[in-house]
Amino acid sequence: MTNAPGRFDDESLSPRPPGTVLSSQDTSNPCLMCGSTSRAVLYPFEIRDVVRCQSCNFIYAHPMAEEGHFDEIYGGEYWTTYNVSVGEPDIHDRIDEFLEISAERIERLERFRLDGKLLDVGCSMGFLVKAASDSGFEAIGIDLSEQTLAEGRELFDVDLRQAVVGDLPSALQFDAITCYNTIEHLTDPESLMREMVSHLSPDGIIVIGTHDIESKSHLLERRLWKHIMPSEHLFYFRREDLFALGERVGLTVVHADKPIDNSIVVYYKHAESTAD
Ligand SMILES: [Zn+2]
Repeated sequence: MTNAPGRFDDESLSPRPPGTVLSSQDTSNPCLMCGSTSRAVLYPFEIRDVVRCQSCNFIYAHPMAEEGHFDEIYGGEYWTTYNVSVGEPDIHDRIDEFLEISAERIERLERFRLDGKLLDVGCSMGFLVKAASDSGFEAIGIDLSEQTLAEGRELFDVDLRQAVVGDLPSALQFDAITCYNTIEHLTDPESLMREMVSHLSPDGIIVIGTHDIESKSHLLERRLWKHIMPSEHLFYFRREDLFALGERVGLTVVHADKPIDNSIVVYYKHAESTAD
């Protein structure tokens, strides 16, 4: 990795101070939510700025990362070497914590869905797949790093595959598709949502969890908020953005949660579904 992680480069700010309105000549990377290319710098960073859409106030990273940028970051030792390099504790020291969080996530899912086939997108070592399996789901997980997946299989004896949603056989349908802390990393969240919808059974539930840009801690800490990290986090969703994105891909919101201040979790079903 040659790029300095977004949050540790305070000494090397971009030359564009907050509030700088960026050139309207640059029509690349239109706002995911409204399509506008009118934007102003919110938080300057060397690698790419965090900007605010001048039309709808959506917050995102600009210029956008190259498509597939995550293959390099997440395909290798993201969860071990890379994460430690940006100051996160080693995942191996957090196994119990992640298992506990995952068990809570499954408990909350069970308000809407008690069993069936579950797909976890961006599964890392398979914590949620393990919790779901223990709770009676027939669960599989997909992610990019074979090394991390292999460790998870070894530890938890669960079904983890090196794949993206688009790689799955089109006939494969799931009753629950979960995707935590992943959508904000991708260059095209809408495509991911569409692919998930194409694999959702008629009365299935999709669960999207991400960092909440409207959290109290962001409002207080602003640029220093730990999730402001444009090297990895390309989109900073509000509740309304997640609702609108779901609607755009044929989903309707069943419920939205804030299990902790920093996060937001939205539960969706097919818009035409008759499930409760
Ligand atoms: Zn916009």
